[in-house]
Amino acid sequence: MNTKIIIAIDGHSSTGKSTVAKQLAEVLGYTYVDTGAMYRAVAWYAMQNGIIVANELAVDQLKKALSRINIRFKQNPKTAIVETYVNDQNVESFIRSIEVSKWVSKVAAISEVRKKLVEQQQQMGVHKGIVMDGRDIGSVVFPNAELKLFMTASAQVRAQRRYDEMKSKGEKVTFEEVLNNVIERDHIDSTRKDSPLIKAADAIVIDNSDLSRTAQFNKILELVNQAM
Ligand code: C5P
Repeated sequence: MNTKIIIAIDGHSSTGKSTVAKQLAEVLGYTYVDTGAMYRAVAWYAMQNGIIVANELAVDQLKKALSRINIRFKQNPKTAIVETYVNDQNVESFIRSIEVSKWVSKVAAISEVRKKLVEQQQQMGVHKGIVMDGRDIGSVVFPNAELKLFMTASAQVRAQRRYDEMKSKGEKVTFEEVLNNVIERDHIDSTRKDSPLIKAADAIVIDNSDLSRTAQFNKILELVNQAM
């Protein structure tokens, strides 16, 4: 009997969705899919291929290029970390830069981009046993997911976490730049026409502004056990 479930984790930017999702996948022996990485990979491709130039995103050009953009995840045999590939190039170390962060929500607001990536995501979940994080997983990708979480925290707390993470990787950014980006992405993600970031009616809200990682994980594990 297949008792595997689908766990959909949505929420605002930098709420620690991917950390929780990765941990859950490891404990449960499930596949983890970071859908944000897929949108970031498309934005990165657009930047590399003259589709985003200076301050312009050529939307029609990107729509035409979509059939040439093949996104895959592969596990690095040395580190066991799952890395993002565009066509055959490993883009893992490029897609979380502040430049990609500045464009990704505009790219993700294009319906044709979403259609392509959502189909691929749904395919990844056909056998269940998956933890997927993003913005529309419980509302659009897997509306029948057995467990839906919606993570949030104050913008200040989220920006601080993202800033610390970027600094530790040696990226040159200011706190204001990161805070503005977090606020701007939330705004674009929540107000776009296609699949805006919303809490699905049956999603459970986790506000982790004042919750330690361990407390949060224990709480979520309890919810997973109930959902199974
Ligand atoms: O999760 P992450 O912050 O890496 O996502 C980057 C961006 O990709 C989001 O701000 C959002 O614009 C877009 N995204 C989306 N739908 C998803 C996942 C991410 O629109 N399922």
